[in-house]
This record gives sequence, structure tokens and C-alpha cells, in this order.
Amino acid sequence: MVGLMNHEHVPYYWQSLDFARLTADYPPPPAFYDTVYCMPREQLRALQEKRFIAQMQRAWEIPFFQRHWGEARMQAGDIKSLDDLTKIPPYTVHDIRASIERNPPFGDFMGVTPADGARMPLVLQTSGGTTGLPRPMLYAPQDRETMAILGGRRLSMQGVKPGDRVLVTYSLGLTNGGFMGREAIWKYSGALPVMTGSGASTPTRRQIELAKAWGINVILGFPAYLRHMALVARDELGIDPKSLGLRLLGSHLGVEDRKAIEDLWGAPCMDSYGINETGMVASECQHQDGMHIHEDAVIIEICNAENARPLAPGERGNILITSLYKYSAPQIRFNVNDVSAIKPGQCVCGSTLARLDKIFGRADNMIKLRGVNVFPEAVGALVAEDVRCTGEYFCLVERAGAAGREEMTVMVELKDGEADAVQSSLDRRFKEGLGVKCIVRPVARGGLDAYTGVAQTSKIKRVLDRRNEKS
Ligand SMILES: [Zn+2]
Repeated sequence: MVGLMNHEHVPYYWQSLDFARLTADYPPPPAFYDTVYCMPREQLRALQEKRFIAQMQRAWEIPFFQRHWGEARMQAGDIKSLDDLTKIPPYTVHDIRASIERNPPFGDFMGVTPADGARMPLVLQTSGGTTGLPRPMLYAPQDRETMAILGGRRLSMQGVKPGDRVLVTYSLGLTNGGFMGREAIWKYSGALPVMTGSGASTPTRRQIELAKAWGINVILGFPAYLRHMALVARDELGIDPKSLGLRLLGSHLGVEDRKAIEDLWGAPCMDSYGINETGMVASECQHQDGMHIHEDAVIIEICNAENARPLAPGERGNILITSLYKYSAPQIRFNVNDVSAIKPGQCVCGSTLARLDKIFGRADNMIKLRGVNVFPEAVGALVAEDVRCTGEYFCLVERAGAAGREEMTVMVELKDGEADAVQSSLDRRFKEGLGVKCIVRPVARGGLDAYTGVAQTSKIKRVLDRRNEKS
């Protein structure tokens, strides 16, 4: 029967990479602090230059880039250095979706297919996609391991230490966040990952009981869930979140009210920015003054949304990402549609790495309401300031009345206090803070769960725009 056994070559993960080489190229903590973290800018630029040219060569092997660049009449060899970067046409998720439609089910933008598993171990995770099938991404060992290192840097910069117990509340499914978190913690921080996942994997009450019983001292999660957890602990279980003794929270704050979350938990809440394709892109140090970009691994440009013209430090625009280490699915000027700015000046921590300001919102989430640009994320920040609300909110945009006037109704969850009083004060705050009048509708606690999915998923829905629906 032995003859029937499958003797095909299996590519083992531990043999798929030269780990000593990789960790010298992309130093994890603590070596990171003596190398990349404080590298002179000219040296950093030279390193980026070398890696960028290698990425261009890799990208030219991939049909998606051959087509995208060919359409712009670009030829291999046109791009000679980083100075030429702005000549390259950017692309967005729409181009990736088109690539998947053209070559289902994985598209032609990665340069690997599942069959390449015969020569290297691959892993599939997806975007968080809220409409249609999620976008698949196959990670080669080089991609996955570098991402874990970048995640490890973030944890260390924010104060995670060996021996810490880190609760991870990101979804444990197809989306990348939870598993990437586990790999970063486990491989490059010395801390212990405790993978409860979102409320759908482990009910929130149970997460709190576990945090208490197992001496969790760090929690990673999206801001809405961190807030939800704290309120469940305090109001449903009678456990003051502060009594759990957390040392820090790791999140992706955007414009959310950092202080409100920190006050609930009695611990600092750190901001970071990552995307599923590239992992950790930028992370705050303990000074909480802008997110240091992992510039040896990615180049960030801030560009005008319409014409991709680069903007000066301090100016807000779309983030364009060029990754410098990827084997599968390199990214060269990927317009992620998130809006931010480069922070001028230097951080007091002494790092030479440039800093990204907070993420102000998604350019494609932006609601144009009677001519005014409104980010739902900014609505959320104003709601979070009001202690009489739980912080949950949902924006419903529609045309009202015979004239079809555009109206945005912001539903907010009441914690305590009079609905009328909350309504009139938020009414005023929205007008001041957003520059446009909205309709405020307070609802009872839990009344928005069906809209936002906050109790079930870690990716929260905030907007329903019905203006283009036929009535
Ligand atoms: Zn710093």
C-alpha cells in the first residue's frame, strides 16, 4: 500500500525563508530601535530606493501591472528611481475588483495562485468587504513574516512587553486582522496572544470574565468594540473596567474620542494604521503624537483625491501606499482612499521615521450633504463626546418631502438622560462641528445593533445612503 502514499514535495514554512536574513533586513524589536527607528533620512531614502527598484521589477512580472501601466504607455525602464514615483498611475480597489472579475476567482494582481503552494506555503485572508464577496489575498512567506515583524514593532512601540497577556478582539475568520495580530504577538513580542475574536466568536460578557480571570493586561480592538466592552462590563456585569488593571489598549482610532475610551478603561489607548494587504503601515509611539510610518517597508504619499498630485506635509488628502517588501501582490501607488496628512516636524521620541496624522475618514465614505462634505467618522467623534450617549451611532441619508431635500438622520443610542435634551444639544453640536444641519434621533440602548452589527462583528456599519434608491 506504500506505493499509494503521496510523496509529493511539501514546502515547509521553516525552510521557506532565510529568517536570519529577513530579520536583518526588517529588524524586529529590540534591534529595530537601533536601526530603522532612528536611521538618518538619507540612509533610509537609499534603502527605499533599492527596495523600490526591486518591487518595480517584481510588479512588471504581474499581468495586472503590465496592463495598468501599459495603458498609461509606461515601459519597463521608464522608472529609474524613487524620483519617478509620481509618474506612475495610481490604482484603487476598483481596479483590483476588475482584475478579479477578469480572472476569477483570484484575479491577476498577485503574481501567485493557489497552485504555487507546491513551491511555497501560502495563506489566504481577505479584506473586510462590506458589499459582495470579500477580496481574497494570498500571502507568500516573505509577505506574511515581514507583516508579523511590522506588527511586532507596533506592539513594542506602544508598550507591550514579553510576558504580557494580550486579548485580541478582531474577527477570527476570513479577514486578516485577528490572525495577523496573533502572528505579530506570538512571534515578535514575547507576549501571549489570547484570541477571543469579536463578540460573534466569544460573547462580550465572556470576554470580560476571561480578561478578569486570566489577568489580561492589554486589549486590541476597534474603538467601537472597546467602548462596547467597557459598557457591558460596567453596566451589565457590575465590573468597573478600571478594576481589570489594563496597562494599555491598542486600536485604530481615526477621529474617535480617544479620551472617552481611556477614561472608561483607565489606560492609554494607542492609535495605529494598517490595511489587510500590507499589514501595519504606521503606529504611534507612547507620545501619542502621530503614527510613525514603517518607512523601510512602505512609502506613503498624501495626494489630492482627484488628480493624485502630491500634497505638502500638513495638507489632507488620500493615502497612496507603495509597499517595499511584497512578493505576492506588490503595491505601487495603491490609493487606499483613506484621508490623512503627514505630520510636519519631528516626534519627541527621537525617531527619524515620518509620522502620519490620524485617519480622518474614508474618501469613499464621505457623504456630500447639501454641498457639504461630511465624514461619518466625524459624526461618531461628536457623538462620543456626549456622555449621555453610548457612543453608537448610525447615519441614514435620504431625500425627504416633495422637493427631495437631502436629509441626514443621525440615530444615537441613549445611555441615560432625557431624549429631548440630548437631541437639542447634539443638534447644535452637529451644526457647529460638521457645518450642516442634521436630524438627531435618540434611540434606546441596543436599538442600533441591527443597523451597525456592533454586538456581532468587529467591522461596524455606520451609513445607509438611500438617495439613489427608487421609491
Ligand atoms: Zn515618536
